[in-house]
Amino acid sequence: MPGNTEGRSTLLKKAADKFGTPSYVYFADDIRRQAREVAGAFKGSFVTSYAVKANPNLQVLAILQEEGLELDVSSIGEFRRGVSAGFDPAKISFTGPAKKACDIREAIERGIGYIVCESMQQLETVNHCARALGIKQDVLVRLNPMTVPRGFGLQMGGRPSQFGVDEEVFEELYPRIAELPGICLKGLHVFSGGNSLYADIVIENFSLLADIFSRLCSALDIVPQRLVFGSGFGIPYFQGDKVLDFSAASAAISLLASNLTSSSRFSQTQLVLEMGRFLVGSHGYLLTSVVDRKHSRGTDICVCDAGFNNHLNAAGMMGAVMRRDWPFFNVSRTGIPVDREYQLVGPLCASFDVLANKANLPDTRVGDVLAVGSSGAYGFSASPMHFISHPAPRELLVELSDGKEQIRDISEAAYA
Ligand SMILES: *Cc1c(COP(=O)(O)O)cnc(C)c1O
Repeated sequence: MPGNTEGRSTLLKKAADKFGTPSYVYFADDIRRQAREVAGAFKGSFVTSYAVKANPNLQVLAILQEEGLELDVSSIGEFRRGVSAGFDPAKISFTGPAKKACDIREAIERGIGYIVCESMQQLETVNHCARALGIKQDVLVRLNPMTVPRGFGLQMGGRPSQFGVDEEVFEELYPRIAELPGICLKGLHVFSGGNSLYADIVIENFSLLADIFSRLCSALDIVPQRLVFGSGFGIPYFQGDKVLDFSAASAAISLLASNLTSSSRFSQTQLVLEMGRFLVGSHGYLLTSVVDRKHSRGTDICVCDAGFNNHLNAAGMMGAVMRRDWPFFNVSRTGIPVDREYQLVGPLCASFDVLANKANLPDTRVGDVLAVGSSGAYGFSASPMHFISHPAPRELLVELSDGKEQIRDISEAAYA
């Protein structure tokens, strides 16, 4: 079952009783444990940078800051969040398309570590801003690789893309990049595939990237300070999804890393993993209450107080090629046989506001609280919560304190 769901029912029910629904619930100790597992598995080979867009809640960021992670932001707003959560700007990198000069200027002024440039134009803008400020800014160039192995939930390379400089033109651009006086090229970056559950695919991708980095750096005589390999580590979302064999993947990838850094060109290079969902995705839930129940032309329907306005991803609208039902469960009726099938819909006046076409649940009544796991990443902030002006969901954090699990409201005023 994705996300160790049923075991959480008692606490989730308590959270709903205390703070109401719709709400997101994150489990702090599980996020910490996950961060430590990743750090332990890649100790000495990779540092981990958290991709803020997965979950930008300030308390979640503060947890990951305490765990010693670095940060990757993809907007100036995420940069500001990272800094206010306690991250040292020097440990932050700024990736993403459409960076404006004002954003770049602010990031440089506040001491950002690296700006990851997505195009020649962006390199020139960074150069211009840095020169105006009288400094030399460390940058990485993001590459759009020619090939990406099949088997990623999200495929971001191997075709025309707004992300990165095409791998095959980098050599030709390099002399121009090297001449820009306001920047210092410190290395390369690729993020080409995300959300895979297959260790062999993730390993193959790392191996491919190591080859690209190796070939380009040798050809251009670059001794990189930093190479970013993206992530690719996925989490289960659906019934029957397997769990990524993390120990197999991390062992093989660490070995690839030590092969790479055994050559003198890369012996001082910092290798970096950039991950979002794998750190936080499995440790969050959305809670929603059943507001109405009806029977319409042979279908039992539960009308819930959360819809795609609260969880675009669970509603199958976040880049999913095929709509599949996420496994909702009823936290108000544990221990009752799961012998009914309901269509779950949200509160929006839009016929496509469907959370699940066929949810397997026990006999479910108005007032029951339903939950869905795998919602710690790309949930709250990835949803169009303003559509139809329903109140925003709460964000809650469960944390062990004095031997008891405490539930805290960590909602931010900006979203109220
Ligand atoms: C979103 C993103 C990631 C993280 O992706 P996950 O699938 O959540 O691990 C990493 N790097 C960059 C540049 C990203 O945009």
